[in-house]
Amino acid sequence: MFDLIIHAAETPAGRFDIGITEGVITALAPALPDPAKTTLDATGLLVWPGIMDAHVHFNEPGRADWEGLATGSRALAAGGGTAFFDMPLNSNPPTANLAALEEKRRCAEAESVLDFGLWGALIPGNEDDMEPLAAAGVIGFKAFMSDSGMAEFPHANAAVLRAGMKRAAACGRLVALHAEDQSLTRRLSAEAQAAGRTGIQDYLDSRPVQAELLAIDLAVELAGETGCALHIVHVSSPEGLARLAAARAQGVDVSAETCPHYLLLNDTDVHRTGALAKCAPPLRDETRRLELWQHLAAGGVQTIGSDHSPSPASLKESTDFFKAWGGIGGCQHGFPLTIAAALLDHGLSAATLSPLLSGHVVERFGLARKGKIAVGYDADLIFLDLKAADRISAQDLLTRHPLSAYTGLVNRCRVTRTLLRGQSIWPGNPETSHLRGRWLKPQTAV
Ligand SMILES: [Zn+2]
Repeated sequence: MFDLIIHAAETPAGRFDIGITEGVITALAPALPDPAKTTLDATGLLVWPGIMDAHVHFNEPGRADWEGLATGSRALAAGGGTAFFDMPLNSNPPTANLAALEEKRRCAEAESVLDFGLWGALIPGNEDDMEPLAAAGVIGFKAFMSDSGMAEFPHANAAVLRAGMKRAAACGRLVALHAEDQSLTRRLSAEAQAAGRTGIQDYLDSRPVQAELLAIDLAVELAGETGCALHIVHVSSPEGLARLAAARAQGVDVSAETCPHYLLLNDTDVHRTGALAKCAPPLRDETRRLELWQHLAAGGVQTIGSDHSPSPASLKESTDFFKAWGGIGGCQHGFPLTIAAALLDHGLSAATLSPLLSGHVVERFGLARKGKIAVGYDADLIFLDLKAADRISAQDLLTRHPLSAYTGLVNRCRVTRTLLRGQSIWPGNPETSHLRGRWLKPQTAV
């Protein structure tokens, strides 16, 4: 007998009943006969694999007052997430050695309601820590090609990257890069600030698309040279995606992530909402935003990650826009808004979009038995109601601080239920509130 049967599930692969036993999908059929201990009727809803967000900053340990694994994971669960990969910053210490990894693992196992992967750092001086971190199970290594905004996480120049990428390739892990050119962004920022040009437009102008392209060109060259698999995070421009597609066509192993905020918002939203929509690379113009959708539809984006990077309100308040914290809070609504925009406005199919949120993440990072609705896979499932029209307000937010770039927007995709291994974790209920997620480690080399 099944523990749970979901009837009439409209999945990206078609409509069927889903039978679940001990947290695993054990049957898929047009009509499964009861009895089951529990049944759910999904008529009128979409049932998708749970979102695997490969890019969050939950900031714990060290900056749990900015977010924290308990609040962050619950907010993401409410937004359709069933797993996240936590970046090696802005937690402090950064996840640059085994001791720091162990500390973060303890925090996550104690507090996260979702399954989690952990990124390791690639920073100057930690080259010898990379192999032990890979052996312990980090999902990959993250480096910054420009200043990260965190003194304890310095940027990696070409020499550091080259050496680190050789190590990463040797231990079968990919390197994820924040791709903006250090010398150009630093020079433009310094010139603007020295001249007292510290407004919103001055900040946007200090991080041009050209900075992203210069960094991508260097990253691709180093990948070719070292044989390291690359993942360029938060690609903001269609030009960047085009360069990466060209590199892939030449045989470079490079994937592209973009984020909901680049797909949903543009530079006028930064002027409208201020530092809530400040990020790096910054939001681009409307023409580029629309072109990102075209690349996405054509297969030019491999994964979509939230890059949830919140802070307390006080850090967003500077009159000098360069000094306001750059990072968008949005793991609760970014994905539902993206799903609605994709399906209702941009003509994408569920079969095209859903893998970018789950299946591709699993494949790219070498995980197993997740990200697909298939027999033998974990029953990580989300129920989506595309008939919704909910205006997002600050009081809806489950994050530590009620700050989101999406407040005020109308969300047309309500996440009505999130199941992790068959257990309903959203909406929260007393029977499952004690459940905690598991650490996800790569099963295969990339
Ligand atoms: Zn990030």
